[in-house]
Amino acid sequence: MLNRRTMLKMLATLPFMGGVAGSNAIRKVSGEKLARPGYNRDFFTELGVKPFINAWGTITAKSGSLMHPEVIEAYNYASQQFVDLNELQDKVGERIAEMLNCEAAMVTAGAASAMTLGAAACITGKDQEKIRALPNLPGQQLEVIIQDTHRFGYDHAVRNTGVKMVEVNGPREMEEAINEKTVMMLFFNAAGEHSVSREQFVEIGQRNNVPTFIDAAADVPPVENLFKYIEMGFDLVTFSGGKAIRGPQSAGLLFGRKDLLEAARLNTVPHSNTIGRGMKVNKEEILAMMVALEKYLERDHEKDWEEWENRVALIDEAVSSVESVETDHYVFPVANHVPHLSIKWDQEIINITPPKLRENLENGYPSIVTFGGDESVEVSVFMMQQEEVGIVAKRLKEELEMALM
Ligand SMILES: *Cc1c(COP(=O)(O)O)cnc(C)c1O
Repeated sequence: MLNRRTMLKMLATLPFMGGVAGSNAIRKVSGEKLARPGYNRDFFTELGVKPFINAWGTITAKSGSLMHPEVIEAYNYASQQFVDLNELQDKVGERIAEMLNCEAAMVTAGAASAMTLGAAACITGKDQEKIRALPNLPGQQLEVIIQDTHRFGYDHAVRNTGVKMVEVNGPREMEEAINEKTVMMLFFNAAGEHSVSREQFVEIGQRNNVPTFIDAAADVPPVENLFKYIEMGFDLVTFSGGKAIRGPQSAGLLFGRKDLLEAARLNTVPHSNTIGRGMKVNKEEILAMMVALEKYLERDHEKDWEEWENRVALIDEAVSSVESVETDHYVFPVANHVPHLSIKWDQEIINITPPKLRENLENGYPSIVTFGGDESVEVSVFMMQQEEVGIVAKRLKEELEMALM
């Protein structure tokens, strides 16, 4: 309920809006509908689809990330001319391989697609009969070795090729599991090193002549990770294009050993009789992905980090002024490895649960999507637009104050 006290407090927060006061922010907060500047049609409003401020991170179901203008420019450029798809993949692949200091690279339809194509490459090589037969190769079922602690939903993308996942624990079991049916070893980067280090993993693969694949889809920042796994000796590496790299959300990178990349290419578009035919990447995405990577590598990553920390501090300052609110700054160790803010409060003093507060933020104007469980509201700042930070701070503070007993 809006009582007089709360109203006064809300008014008192207004100077905080400083930089955004008078801009679209205020109108958006008041619920007025806006067409994006520069566009004639407001498609999302037409459709009744609600855009929101992303205070959650690079979440696939929430449409990942936003492309930089240079990336959109590349996308639009490509959309106006015909080219040969193979020729474009060849040239873009060479350029990406140069940027990432590796033998070869390709643009895939996301990291999950890269996993299917990488596994297919390890199985078929350039054998056309095998390429056509996937996922039903004659003979015994082939195997991919994975640590039991590394099983995850995305390994379905590898199982698409018809292989069986063989779970092992520790380097000894890993080595013993290798046999003539073994086609690949899969490392899920975010699951980390429990019983087998990355170096050991690579060493076992190399000694037994089994290709190693690391899924590091969400694992920039830090930017160094783009180079690290090739340097360690992994044969295949994948990153999502549409997470922190901010390429097209439906694109990704597969890079590493040249012979395997050639085989991966044969297992997908434009070849029709392949397991990857449904994982089409168009010329626009291929080019835009290359430019997104260029832009990402060129960025001042330290400055980005500082900016994110400033954003967290700004929101922290706003919410911490409310009685009983406690905050925490943290960084996930891997994947969405960026500054976050955790917000908690005493529900005897602020009479609202964190899930209800998140719901209010999502249902308000502008809609703001945060995350968290029953105990807290969690805020990720790196997918916000600059001008949205003040709005998020203000709305959080507003919701907390309105629930003050
Ligand atoms: C996001 C993600 C994927 C899938 O990436 P897409 O680019 O969306 O296909 C695969 N593995 C991990 C660990 C991820 O986080």
